[in-house]
Amino acid sequence: MKTRKHLHAGCDLSEWKENSLWDPGSLRKVQKHPCYSKKAAHLFGRIHLPVAPKCNLECNYCIREYDCINETRPGVTSKVLAPLEALERVAEVISRVPNITVVGIAGPGEPLFNPETFETFRLVREEFPRLKKCMSSNGLLLVEKIHQITELDIQTITVTVNAVNPLIAQRIYSSVYYRGITLRGLEAARVLVEKQLSGIEVAAEKGIIIKVNTVLIPTINEDHVLEIAKKVKMLGACVLNVMPLIPQHKFAHLTPPSGGERKAIQDQCAAVIPQMRHCRQCRADAVGRLGEDSQNAALGLE
Ligand code: SF4
Ligand code: SF4
Repeated sequence: MKTRKHLHAGCDLSEWKENSLWDPGSLRKVQKHPCYSKKAAHLFGRIHLPVAPKCNLECNYCIREYDCINETRPGVTSKVLAPLEALERVAEVISRVPNITVVGIAGPGEPLFNPETFETFRLVREEFPRLKKCMSSNGLLLVEKIHQITELDIQTITVTVNAVNPLIAQRIYSSVYYRGITLRGLEAARVLVEKQLSGIEVAAEKGIIIKVNTVLIPTINEDHVLEIAKKVKMLGACVLNVMPLIPQHKFAHLTPPSGGERKAIQDQCAAVIPQMRHCRQCRADAVGRLGEDSQNAALGLE
């Protein structure tokens, strides 16, 4: 894989204190996106559409039972919506919740592995062209789907990268389903890491703003996050979001990192790539400003 030294100007930040440091093109894409700026998070909201139930990975920290009403964590939703239902939800929400600027698809499975993701974005683009489209992905299919992504004008993508070294990745993923075959062990890890990194590079070259999420997993990747930061920055990612492990499934026995441990790693990585520090580890059906998802119940969306 080739690496890039010159990235689009918006990514070449040594600090991420003021959005004015971004180039105008990149700034336009993120200035009203609550996940890219703490200031924007106070003013603007997002709606996540839970239209993507299937997943092509088995992460050792993920419970694939997504049907949870009372939990706030990535990948849970009270209901999976069909694309037309999702469109109706957008209409309902923007009529009742002010300042929704972003429509995101973040699960409950892998958005790129579900054709409903693209159908939903198509419908949203036709009905609500002013809303920005955003998605999160495990990155496995990013290169393959890049034309559909750019055609739909999806301008921001979050890719979860928990390791750039397959020897570490193989401890995090139990299986990878790729091109009709279930891969395991080191082979699975090699394919996943290669696809994630080439996906980030290709998407960044297309001008898509890439945020990388890294789940900080004590005893597994805690000494590896800086290497991840350097690699993804070199490939064109703009922001790194170090998220604490929520211990469940095969990692249920692990102790999550303390706030101090996470901050120390974020501070270390901040010398390499801007850090997102206000992530709320949202549900796949989150609505509103970050941290105000209780509105779901008030809106009758649960
Ligand atoms: Fe769960 Fe996401 Fe991993 Fe799929 S990619 S297993 S939905 S955490
Ligand atoms: Fe933004 Fe984090 Fe919530 Fe994703 S999980 S919408 S990055 S705050």
